[in-house]
Amino acid sequence: MPNMQSEKTPMPEQEPSVRSGNFLEVAKGYTEELALNEAGRCLNCKHMPCVSGCPVNVRIPEFIAKIAQKDYSGAAAVIKSTNSLPAICGRVCPQESQCESKCVRGIKGEPVAIGRLERFAADYAMERGIKTEEKIEKNGHRVAIVGSGPAGLTCAGDLARMGYGVHIFEALHTPGGVLMYGIPEFRLPKGLVKQEIAAVADLGVTIETDVVVGRALSMDELFEDGFEAVFIGSGAGLPSFMHMPGENLNGVYSANEFLTRINLMKAYDYPRADTPVTVGESVAVVGGGNVAMDAARCAKRLGAKDVTVVYRRSEAEMPARAEEVHHAKEEGIVFSMLTNPVEVIGEEGWVTGLKCVKMELGEPDASGRRRPVEIAGSEHVLNVQTVVIAIGNMPNPLLRSTTPNLETNKRGGIVTDEETGATSIPGVFAGGDAVTGAATVILAMGAGKRAAKGIDEYIRGKK
Ligand code: FAD
Ligand code: SF4
Repeated sequence: MPNMQSEKTPMPEQEPSVRSGNFLEVAKGYTEELALNEAGRCLNCKHMPCVSGCPVNVRIPEFIAKIAQKDYSGAAAVIKSTNSLPAICGRVCPQESQCESKCVRGIKGEPVAIGRLERFAADYAMERGIKTEEKIEKNGHRVAIVGSGPAGLTCAGDLARMGYGVHIFEALHTPGGVLMYGIPEFRLPKGLVKQEIAAVADLGVTIETDVVVGRALSMDELFEDGFEAVFIGSGAGLPSFMHMPGENLNGVYSANEFLTRINLMKAYDYPRADTPVTVGESVAVVGGGNVAMDAARCAKRLGAKDVTVVYRRSEAEMPARAEEVHHAKEEGIVFSMLTNPVEVIGEEGWVTGLKCVKMELGEPDASGRRRPVEIAGSEHVLNVQTVVIAIGNMPNPLLRSTTPNLETNKRGGIVTDEETGATSIPGVFAGGDAVTGAATVILAMGAGKRAAKGIDEYIRGKK
């Protein structure tokens, strides 16, 4: 008999008052007992609606059934056969809009906590060093990958399993993309990201860091070096700004810089770390997405007394995951909705305030969301010493400006064939945020997978 409990089995978490003062992981994960209870809620549906909601088609009922049978390493092996980064996905995927949104248990209650169970199985195998044996026969062909985020890592892993010699070129000194430099330690511990990257390298993938393709090496040079195809997974690392007066004062950060200093360079551990990051007593974070939530929660952990998220629409339109907004509120982050910044105010080169206006929602715009309209006479100043701009990221322009004939769209995304990831240049494929603009880990992984298939078909077709 399935467990007919209508709500998900809760996952233990650090208390908000404790965790807002440390960078340790907020969610502690299921114990064996909790995982068995939750696995018992799965109905093992024959038509598997949850699988259709997963961009990498994890065989969800199969792995949950293995957990229910206490075969935890078997569960991890099922997940790993289609998803090379399960401990990461179990933590950061927006399951509520993917697999869990299709779960039949969600019709009359809460869906099965698929993400929490995925995390449990992946952690079980990782903590015990259980590896899935894979027999790989090399096929003698070589593929280059630009960027080591989830798109590049997934494409690399799938190609390596097919027998290709795969070489990843990464611009930064550490592989992992946003997983390492963007998403904070308290949501995604870097130790486990490193372990999942090491498992991809164990498939025979070479990862070379500190190489900026488009500067140190051109696309043509990669082909001259004997690579038969190239996958571009260079992400969307170019921050957008408001273009308001005062934005270049000291104390204004892009969320990218702020989070990179904190996560990749461990500024929270300064002076033991290489770089500091200064936050004032009061901080404003501009934006309403996951990046804004991460920046606000980091600012709080760095010692800011008041952190305010400033967003020009209402809470209903906020793109951030509901769970992240909930966590931020629990940690004491204040939300100033329907508020738009118009000027950063400063003295002697440093930020002293953020001038804002109040907004109301008008008619829907092109995105279908109601357009915010300024309320006359609503100008006011937030007294802050730090402003973090988190209003979005665009694909980095370097590759498109140094690769002739690489077609891109108006927003700078590389134009590809949806099925194969093929670009306008024969042998060059792309996927992830470099194509879609800022999106999600699992969508980037799905694109990496499709491109690996496309590259295999392309290279076989040449023989
Ligand atoms: P990236 O992860 O950006 O990786 C691209 C890599 O390419 C980088 O390492 C970069 O250094 C490298 N590169 C760029 N140009 C070059 C070059 N010329 N030569 C060599 N290397 C190059 N998604 C979720 O699903 N859940 C979340 O909770 C979530 N939270 C997020 C929080 C933050 C702060 C941010 C910024 C994003 C978040 N996302 C989240 C989005 C998600 O991380 C991205 O959609 C995903 O990482 C995109 O993967 P990617 O492989 O396309 O690119
Ligand atoms: Fe289990 Fe829900 Fe998938 Fe059905 S839809 S198999 S209940 S996870």
